[in-house]
Amino acid sequence: MIDVNAHILLIYTGGTIGMIENPKTGSLEPFDFAHLTSHLPELQRFRFQVDHIVFDPVFDSSEVTPEHWKRIVRTIEKHYNQYDGFVILHGTDTMAYTASALSFMIENLHKPVVLTGAQLPIGKLRTDAKENLITALEIAADKDILGNPIVPEVCIFFQNDLLRGNRSTKVNADNFNAFKSYNYPNLGKSGIQIRYDRKAILQPDYDKKTIFHYYLDSRIASLRLFPGISKYTVETILSLKDIRAIILETYGSGNAPLSPWFLDQIRNAVRRDVIIVNITQCKIGMVDMQRYETGRELLKAGVISGFDSTFESAVAKLMFLIGHKYDKEDINIRMRVPLVGEITRPEDRVNEKI
Ligand code: ASP
Repeated sequence: MIDVNAHILLIYTGGTIGMIENPKTGSLEPFDFAHLTSHLPELQRFRFQVDHIVFDPVFDSSEVTPEHWKRIVRTIEKHYNQYDGFVILHGTDTMAYTASALSFMIENLHKPVVLTGAQLPIGKLRTDAKENLITALEIAADKDILGNPIVPEVCIFFQNDLLRGNRSTKVNADNFNAFKSYNYPNLGKSGIQIRYDRKAILQPDYDKKTIFHYYLDSRIASLRLFPGISKYTVETILSLKDIRAIILETYGSGNAPLSPWFLDQIRNAVRRDVIIVNITQCKIGMVDMQRYETGRELLKAGVISGFDSTFESAVAKLMFLIGHKYDKEDINIRMRVPLVGEITRPEDRVNEKI
């Protein structure tokens, strides 16, 4: 039920959604949020209040750095008590990274933080921006009969899909259905009505405070395997200076070559206290290093399973854990435990389709 007394804060960070076409030059320019309701008169039909903040300068999301994530979290923290929910307008290119980072940076979130964007600017006739924005605002204002928000999570709403932020991936550069969550069900779907999967949505502890975290360490790298990858490439990445963690993108259920030179490089890196997290290049399913000899050797070498983590979420979680100065053992444990629903452990897998 939409709370007609809700106050929602709309934060425009940048991206296609907020662009309009200059009728004279035909070029895309940032939309003037001071005139939001003249471009989007539909907003006046909401009975709840929508205030907005525009980042200065706005940024294309391919420019995003952890500093931008901190700015977004700082903005939410500053206004946390005044608003019932937050809608963040963000470019689609790195939206899944930002959503993942925010999910770790805001602990025990009590309120919806809904990210959305668009494939076509708000000023275009066939834009998807209006529907995405209007539905995201409704989701942020939706409450249950006890007055608690329905989706107290960092999530992405795009086209018809409401997805957990740290499970989302941008999958389409052309069509309106740009995001997918392969390893976790949708939190909701919009059609004539917005339908939520209440069992899939995280619930915070309302007796405990929300905690905002700002320490992030981006000293991480990734190594994506492919047949024929050279010893030199592997060696170069695994011995990069001042790198604390490497995301190893393996095949299938977490498999990698058994070549002695490859395994030696992995063992050496682990011995130098580099954290190596194994995630699969497959979109669906999870790493299980026990299944094949090619995975077992990685496990023996000290590689950590990323289970069914998205790449985006593994990046954000490692930056968060390393930034918080957990030692190697702690990171090892925390990477294998879902902090905010970002991974499924094998023992928690249910209703697996056969
Ligand atoms: N390059 C743009 C961005 O990610 C694309 C978009 O907004 O969809 O900021």
